[in-house]
Amino acid sequence: MIRIFTALLFTVLMATTANAETIAKQLFGSKGTASAQRPAPFGGYAKGCLAGAAQLAETGPTWQAMRLSRNRNWGHPETIAFIERLSKKASRRRGWKGLYVGDISQPRGGPMLTGHASHQLGLDVDIWMLPPDRLNLSRNDRENLSSISTRRANGAFVNDRWTKQHMNILKAAAKDKAVARIFVFPGAKVEMCKRAGSDRAWLNKVRPWYGHHYHFHLRLACPKGAQGCVNQAPPPPGDGCADAQKWVDDILNPPPPSNTPSQPRRELVLADLPQQCASVLSSQ
Ligand SMILES: [Zn+2]
Repeated sequence: MIRIFTALLFTVLMATTANAETIAKQLFGSKGTASAQRPAPFGGYAKGCLAGAAQLAETGPTWQAMRLSRNRNWGHPETIAFIERLSKKASRRRGWKGLYVGDISQPRGGPMLTGHASHQLGLDVDIWMLPPDRLNLSRNDRENLSSISTRRANGAFVNDRWTKQHMNILKAAAKDKAVARIFVFPGAKVEMCKRAGSDRAWLNKVRPWYGHHYHFHLRLACPKGAQGCVNQAPPPPGDGCADAQKWVDDILNPPPPSNTPSQPRRELVLADLPQQCASVLSSQ
């Protein structure tokens, strides 16, 4: 009896160890549904997971979720509520029936098999730059339709697909208390800096980043009372326009490459994530 018990214990321990060292994106990438738990993000935007995710409806009155085959239309319930609010505002803009919503998170958050270092907490959401002119796209349409790029000169400037409606929607998002940061290409930020006039406080949340010309990225702050959710440090005070201009200058006149080689990032294993993420995975 004792021998059987010992053998059993050993097996369980081995399984646990193997699990802890398993590449996290394979574990989280294989889950097709949310965990039956109270909604809670654990960890940071690029190293965490999400319990009790809610699924964004594939089609709502003012949005459609795109690329459904990716199964990344899952988020914290507050993220879903935020998308509903912002898309309603967007739908009042000329030429916009609402929003085309790109990736949020996997059903249990966590690292992904492809793309994105962040989007792990159900608090990041990508919104397509393409203004939705219809909200009755089929599943197939949503796989095949492409967004539009709104940049030129490698992101130093906006192109003629960028409109003031883009700015108005980003502004509405930045003014939403739930939002911590918005990532968009440098030329878009500088363009908005030029046109903002005296109402500029919202620009603080809009930060220049690589890519982000086919979509912009909205990052929500940790919901109130979400213990174990790690906020990113807030951006430095001010409108951030000088910083964005520096990004643009560097695109136009690239500084000499630095000699320090960047370390390739190690794959996250389950043990790298907060311990609650193991139960997020094993929960029903
Ligand atoms: Zn994103």
